[in-house]
Amino acid sequence: MDIVADPRDMQERAQQWRAQGLSIAFVPTMGYFHQGHLSLMEYGRKVGDKVVVSLFVNPAQFGPAEDLDRYPRDLERDAALARQVGVDVLFTPTAEQMYPPDYQTYVEVGDAAKGLCGVSRPGHFRGVATVVCKLFNIVMPHTAIFGEKDYQQLVVIRRMAADLNLPVKVVGRPIVREEDGLAMSSRNTYLSPEERRAALCLQRALTAARRLVSARKSSREEILAVVQQVISQTPHTRIDYLALVDPETLAEVPAVRGEARLALAVWVGNTRLIDNALLVESKPCCV
Ligand code: AMP
Repeated sequence: MDIVADPRDMQERAQQWRAQGLSIAFVPTMGYFHQGHLSLMEYGRKVGDKVVVSLFVNPAQFGPAEDLDRYPRDLERDAALARQVGVDVLFTPTAEQMYPPDYQTYVEVGDAAKGLCGVSRPGHFRGVATVVCKLFNIVMPHTAIFGEKDYQQLVVIRRMAADLNLPVKVVGRPIVREEDGLAMSSRNTYLSPEERRAALCLQRALTAARRLVSARKSSREEILAVVQQVISQTPHTRIDYLALVDPETLAEVPAVRGEARLALAVWVGNTRLIDNALLVESKPCCV
């Protein structure tokens, strides 16, 4: 595996691969790898002749009061893990290379970026869409792979790729969880042991919602009431948002008709965690 820092070098390699008829699978990340990241790389290994993983803690997607400076970083460990799963290139540009002093172009996605995390993190998806668009132009992937853990991000990137006619297939992959159900996240390292236990309420709330829908209680009010109850019973937590949305547009829906996504963001101590689940309307059973 090669580690490439220079965007021009990365782009030249991508052009050469394309000229040779090779397909490129791409996994954008901010590093500090866990099994969630590795599952995306393993999928990339299956669908691409070449697998590129970018590791870039993107300043443009962090607000001024957010955790850019303390975001966990460990390049050596990440490189070893990426090598183990068969990644071809780990692309590690610097902030200066991605945003030189004269930088002035941004990508702004509309409605899909406005609700959910867009409310409490203004500018976040503008930063995400901008960096992913730049990365697509540098890495020139045929397939780009994202986790459903950041479900709104996946929808925003899909929208951007469709709206801007980007020649890339955007693929979403399932959330990888710890054994006890907590969705894996680099930010879980911020949690104290007590907060780590409290953080399980996200998964408990999603499970309670699924159960409710199986019992054909599928209205937004019923579902969000149960979710709120589970979380508010848990110490050290504060709800940022709870939402029942259309899986494609992220517009709020009044009930689970067909499929809906339940998405939530919860502060556990000083750490903001997100999670989501697909809810499927349960059909009356045939006799
Ligand atoms: P990050 O490094 O947190 O920006 O994440 C990079 C990619 O990994 C994104 O597409 C995330 O959605 C994905 N990802 C993060 N955590 C998980 C997880 N627990 N399961 C699956 N994908 C994940």
